[in-house]
Amino acid sequence: MHFLKNLFKPKYSPIQTQLTITSANGFHLRPIAKFAHETKQFKATITLIAHNQEVSATQVPQILSLSLEKNETFILKLIGEEAQKANEHLSNFFIQLMQNDVEIKAIEQECDNYEADAIQGITISKGIGIGTLTNYVKYKTHYALNDSLSLEKALEQTAQDLERLYEANKQKEEAKIFLAQKALLESELFQKNFEYIDEEIKKLEGTKFESRIADYHDLKKRIESYMGINTEYKLPNEDIDSIIVVDELLPSEVEKLSLIPAVKGVILRKGSSNSHASILLRSFKIPSIICHEKITSTGEYYSSILDANAGQFIDVPTEADFKKAEQKALTYKTTEKESYQNRFESTKTKAGKTIKILANITDINSAKEAKEQGANGIGLLRTEFLFTETKPTIEEQTQAYKTIFELFDEITIRTLDIGGDKSLPYINIEKEDNPFLGIRGIRFSLQEQTLFKEQLLAIFQAHNHKKIKIMFPMVSTPEEFNHAKTIAHEVAKKHNIQIDNIQFGIMLEVPSVIFALKEFDQMVDFYSIGTNDLTQYLFAIERTHPTLHIDVTSPIIMNALKTIIEQIKKPISICGELAGVEEATQQLITMGYTTLSVSSKLIPSLKERIRNV
Ligand code: PEP
Ligand code: MG
Repeated sequence: MHFLKNLFKPKYSPIQTQLTITSANGFHLRPIAKFAHETKQFKATITLIAHNQEVSATQVPQILSLSLEKNETFILKLIGEEAQKANEHLSNFFIQLMQNDVEIKAIEQECDNYEADAIQGITISKGIGIGTLTNYVKYKTHYALNDSLSLEKALEQTAQDLERLYEANKQKEEAKIFLAQKALLESELFQKNFEYIDEEIKKLEGTKFESRIADYHDLKKRIESYMGINTEYKLPNEDIDSIIVVDELLPSEVEKLSLIPAVKGVILRKGSSNSHASILLRSFKIPSIICHEKITSTGEYYSSILDANAGQFIDVPTEADFKKAEQKALTYKTTEKESYQNRFESTKTKAGKTIKILANITDINSAKEAKEQGANGIGLLRTEFLFTETKPTIEEQTQAYKTIFELFDEITIRTLDIGGDKSLPYINIEKEDNPFLGIRGIRFSLQEQTLFKEQLLAIFQAHNHKKIKIMFPMVSTPEEFNHAKTIAHEVAKKHNIQIDNIQFGIMLEVPSVIFALKEFDQMVDFYSIGTNDLTQYLFAIERTHPTLHIDVTSPIIMNALKTIIEQIKKPISICGELAGVEEATQQLITMGYTTLSVSSKLIPSLKERIRNV
């Protein structure tokens, strides 16, 4: 009988899609961990093919070992019952991952001249530290045997540690490093034994991806500590202000260093400014540079200067150098502190014009972060990211919206904006040749009204007579707006909910709207300009295109924004990326834009910049 079963097993032919790495950072650990996790939900065998190797899409280390860099491609191969569905979802998910992977740019260094000789390095994290140059010394200790755990138990404990670290830091984007490390830990490689890990490390040595070795070492060290072996770096004296010099740091070591007040700066002799340790050094605001020259402490106690703003280390400074560094440190700290301390203050330009700074958010955590960073409200709640795994019930949606609405007085919520580069596993949009020009945003909601009506009902139930704003994405004609608003009123009527306090507006992101502003101005309560899409449609360049790029501050875009504001009377804000771009702030305010909505992290510095406009 057994062979009969096999005989009738359905045969699936493989589906293959070519995908391109568009992030300047390459396909690195954090996006790989997210991608591998995403693949697990489908009934299909999924592999990645590149450089003549085929690896499992669920195995983080195997994907890492492909070492895929910007502009390289790989084939996503899928076989099985859900191959088609998985292919569409994962291709879109990958494009989105690449798009969201912010390029780590070299940090601009200031030029500075100290009297004494300075050694030049590369800035990892800005700031100025004064202290004794100190070698960070490695100690290896062995516990008594009865303190040690088996490999299996040690792996469990390590996974729990990483989960705890993520939970404790999850307000920060950088916390995802701990989740990515957890995904690496859960891969087959770590379930075998350490020899395999050492082999993997050897393969990476001397390659461009050497910085990834630190993640392997870090996990190994965490596991070993539960198995009775402890390797630890230590400061010889924690009472003396120190500038630490060390070959490399592991992410877990940075976390420990951040707790020692005597650490005034870090010099790494190896590594890169986009390693996980470097990202964490920036996040903990520890002044740091990378310097490949042989800097080492002689063990003598005297003070040196680390001016990470200029990327310089001055081993034996003069009196004048100390004065200069102290002054610079003070000014730097004051500006940093001031913008952060003033983040809850209202934002007025020098001429006394008040500018409202709102936040772009996706879920409850990012709403809390927005509050912490001083947002005056929410300018864009991208609801499509709230429920990414399964279709939420109306109650689940109501609860989530309620929690977010309660945090702020001003809220603009956008109805589902899927299609184009955004997809959800529980929504089926037929494959289109040009998805960015197809069923996107409000077009989808008007076709598939069930989901739209459920979402509207949840928003209405959650609003609790609060003045909130609802906006529809990708509206291109007045008729579309009218249709969507009529549906909203029908839903409210059917469920007997008062919605007098709710305003309805549009995302202004399709160029056709610019030519119908008179009509729109009679209908909408407000506009929010989505410069990301408006730019893509103005230039006919796909926003996720791997090689074609548009200068977001181009005079053509600025002209479009000027044309818009000159023609309308209803309130308007900008919620696309341009709202947070440093070079654009002055121009936008001069044109008359008084409400900008940006990602939370940018709020304190944007507010400070406006105070100087
Ligand atoms: C935009 O298009 O500028 C915008 C804010 O919306 P999204 O990036 O979510 O499409
Ligand atoms: Mg948009």
